[in-house]
Amino acid sequence: MDVLFPFSLSCDEDTRFVCDLCGKSYKRKRHLQRHQKFECEFVIEKPQFPCPHCPYLSKQKDYLKKHIFFKHKHLSDSVV
Ligand SMILES: [Zn+2]
Ligand SMILES: [Zn+2]
Repeated sequence: MDVLFPFSLSCDEDTRFVCDLCGKSYKRKRHLQRHQKFECEFVIEKPQFPCPHCPYLSKQKDYLKKHIFFKHKHLSDSVV
């Protein structure tokens, strides 16, 4: 049978997922995972996708693609 415990729920929901590297806590696991992937200063590494045309660095390949498309359109045009 379903019993609700509003008090205990609201209590431990507060700091359920804690980043063991920097101590930040998140209510949802995916938030913690996103934090550890993209935000945590102890995990974050140098952006992995440098633009070949300028000093721009991207964390995601898609961002770099968009960047090149919008910023260096003329270059890709001339190549094709
Ligand atoms: Zn962290
Ligand atoms: Zn660029």
